[in-house]
Amino acid sequence: MPLYEYLCPTCDHKFEKLQSMSATGADCPNCEQPAKRAISVFAAVTKGGSSEMPGSMGGPLPPLGGGGCCGGGCACG
Ligand SMILES: [Zn+2]
Repeated sequence: MPLYEYLCPTCDHKFEKLQSMSATGADCPNCEQPAKRAISVFAAVTKGGSSEMPGSMGGPLPPLGGGGCCGGGCACG
């Protein structure tokens, strides 16, 4: 999951939040107003090279929090 950096336009509070790619925004933990996404850490890290995206290495990952080889979907565990 990417780590996003947010800047609150209301109180100028800066914070980071771990969110899914599909997340659209976050509320400021300081004043609880909607904050604006400033920059993603991944975007900064991968700047200048796009051959390998973080998260795509090593192939598909098992679902988080699951047990066994496939998160409990099969009877292997
Ligand atoms: Zn704020």
